[in-house]
Amino acid sequence: MKLLAKRALVLLVLVALLTIGLVCFVVRYFNQASTWVQYPANKHLFNNQAKLTVSGTIYDRSGQVLLEMVDGVTKYHRDKTVRTAMLHATGDTDNNIAVGAQVAFREHIIGWNLLNGVYRLQNQPNRSANLTLTLDANLCAAAYKALNGRKGAVGVYNYQTGEILCMVSAPSFDPEQPPNISHYPEKYEGVYINRLLSAVYPPGSIFKIVTAAAALENLPEDKLYHCEGKMQIGSDTVTCTGIHGDIALEQALAHSCNAAFAQIALELGDAVLQKYANLAGFNSYLVVDGIKTAVGRVDVRNAAAVDLAWAGIGQYTNTANPLNFMAFMGAIANQGVLISPRLIADNYGFFASSQKKQVLSAETAVKLGALMRNNTLSVYGEYNFKGLELCAKSGTAEVGEGKRPHAWFTGFLAREDYPLAFVVLIENGGIGSQTAASVARRVLQTAVSTGK
Ligand SMILES: [Zn+2]
Repeated sequence: MKLLAKRALVLLVLVALLTIGLVCFVVRYFNQASTWVQYPANKHLFNNQAKLTVSGTIYDRSGQVLLEMVDGVTKYHRDKTVRTAMLHATGDTDNNIAVGAQVAFREHIIGWNLLNGVYRLQNQPNRSANLTLTLDANLCAAAYKALNGRKGAVGVYNYQTGEILCMVSAPSFDPEQPPNISHYPEKYEGVYINRLLSAVYPPGSIFKIVTAAAALENLPEDKLYHCEGKMQIGSDTVTCTGIHGDIALEQALAHSCNAAFAQIALELGDAVLQKYANLAGFNSYLVVDGIKTAVGRVDVRNAAAVDLAWAGIGQYTNTANPLNFMAFMGAIANQGVLISPRLIADNYGFFASSQKKQVLSAETAVKLGALMRNNTLSVYGEYNFKGLELCAKSGTAEVGEGKRPHAWFTGFLAREDYPLAFVVLIENGGIGSQTAASVARRVLQTAVSTGK
């Protein structure tokens, strides 16, 4: 009996070990199978230079060929400006751009998923693996040209469907003739970074839209603020660009009055401003077909009064990711419902389709939209944006002594036929309502004249 009991115990231990091993394998399979299959040593899919050998084509939304892979040889769009404008979307030949389609959507191009394995290789002997992006090649080229050699980012997306039509990051280069980056460190600084998806910048005055949203829901609407060109907070001074006298929220936003927004931030308090910053997408990322955006930060908890005031104006330690902020503009345009942006048009269920999230009440969103429409009518000039029904806010974000500020212009079109939200950011671009607004005007007019 004793021997039998011993043997049974040994058997039980063996069964337990086997079970533990099996569970470990299954967990690792679910977590890491995607990485295993994409390991460049997988000769079914990669050649000796670790490049994909699966032939496939990446198209823009209208069917233009952005990139073809034929037996490991990569060919890009026929037009140099389009190639350069779309470098951060397609990726470069050496896969330095981590969010380029060749890297980020590799599973899709390979045709692999957890349940079926490398299904396309099994089912389609010609191994074709095509990918259609939501981007419009001509619109991206127009945006790249409008940036005119300056560093920055331009984004345009449909706030009802989530489709990103324009995604441009500069500096860039022609992927068919890659330059020697190390010879021109200044010109190509951060060239592999997609500045729309993967960078953050101080938002400056575009953040006043977030502060205004909090004011609409927490302070009396007819309240007047006072501006004498500056505002004393203890021993510190918040300066304004003008002397605006007694001013209500609508005019304070239109004239981007720092003194009024400092008072609004102080009246709201740190907890309320923090809440609305979080609702607007700060301190969290968006996921664009599996790609996580960089996280813009706002942290005003327990901030000193002068810091809270500057945070409400968009300075202090605030940072914003351009795409994330553009999605917030889309939510304002779409009755407070944020439709998350996406890049893949022919979604075979690889990634969840656009997510919906109510980030503001419909009432607040409509009121904010009206304030932003007033900005165009009373300050930016309707004649500059004829027919666009433009609702917008500019930003001129200070970046330190002796440096030109970053220029922002962001908002949306209140048009049924062109439900587009946008963002333009120019690094050290100067006055947002001039330089960034001018880029936005050219891009949006192109979008409306060439169709969605
Ligand atoms: Zn003022």
